[in-house]
Amino acid sequence: MKILVTGGLGFIGSALIRSLLDNGENHILNIDKCSYASMPEALEGKEKLQNYIFKKIDIVNAGELHSAIADFKPNKIFHLAAESHVDRSISGPENFLNTNILGTFNILESIRKNITSLPKNFILVHVSTDEVFGSLKLDDSLFSESSSYAPNSPYSASKASSDLLVRAWNKTFGIKAVITNCSNNYGPWQNPEKLIPKTIFNAINKCPIPIYGKGINIRDWLHVTDHVNALIQVSDSSQSYSKYNIGGNQEMTNIDLVNLICAHLDKKIPISKPYSSLISYVDDRLGHDLRYAIDASKLSNEHNFEPKYLLQEGIIETVDWYIDNLDWVKSKVN
Ligand code: NAD
Repeated sequence: MKILVTGGLGFIGSALIRSLLDNGENHILNIDKCSYASMPEALEGKEKLQNYIFKKIDIVNAGELHSAIADFKPNKIFHLAAESHVDRSISGPENFLNTNILGTFNILESIRKNITSLPKNFILVHVSTDEVFGSLKLDDSLFSESSSYAPNSPYSASKASSDLLVRAWNKTFGIKAVITNCSNNYGPWQNPEKLIPKTIFNAINKCPIPIYGKGINIRDWLHVTDHVNALIQVSDSSQSYSKYNIGGNQEMTNIDLVNLICAHLDKKIPISKPYSSLISYVDDRLGHDLRYAIDASKLSNEHNFEPKYLLQEGIIETVDWYIDNLDWVKSKVN
């Protein structure tokens, strides 16, 4: 199987490539522009493999992307390249529109123009987010695949736009596609600008642990390994067009999550005071969504998929991983 992954130097893309390479029969082409969010270290040693190729390509550059797809002729494309940090989308939205919308358009157009030379049953897996559905109240029912799109941040608006482009290129041009909308991921190799690695790094360095507002925002947490397994499963879909929500069914407020991390650090690397005393409440993020929560029953019913990681256990493993890889985290912070 020839598999092209965009954004394969990122947190989820690199986990996906590690998993795809574990099946020695796959040939992988990784396309990434090598941005601040790229982590070649997460794929260390893979460049020596015969069945792994990396190309530095910005998906906003249609010409290079078109040639890469025409030459490689993938059976599947997993599209993960994106600007992914909500705070950055608030301070500078333009990059988000360029990569997430124009970049996705370029991928769809490259597929459309190459479609007759691509293998039969070619499929695009477009990796998106639950944030496209907007914000839930505490007593609202979970997001399903048919929930309305109501994005509230430039990031989620750009991802919502990209989902709609994928849908239109399927309906109009017949490009086989599956769109996945996933909850918050956690695990090794996540950029320390994100909540979990930032909390661990700041705590270990005895720096304030910033929490937006009152810390009451609720997210559903999914281990990156579970996410990757779900993506690989849905990529075998026989349907021309499908949508799946992927979630961990593990909702938690940000403050409870940070306290969970602090409690583990208290046991692992005790200091004179509890790590939770470092928590510092800061002004809330503009347009901060209160709650995301996913109904992933379609994925479970159709693909018999259940996440393997319990958040309480996955967090302990994750904190331990960051402790063991502190030099890497430091290199990404500086
Ligand atoms: P990430 O920021 O860690 O990695 C993104 C990768 O894409 C980076 O290596 C970056 O260099 C690359 N990239 C960015 N712009 C590019 C461009 N113009 N051309 C080529 N490469 C480019 O992101 P992530 O957390 O791994 O997320 C991957 C995908 O999953 C994104 O589409 C994101 O929207 C989606 N997603 C993430 C989460 C999460 O919790 N992390 C949850 C749901 C959905």
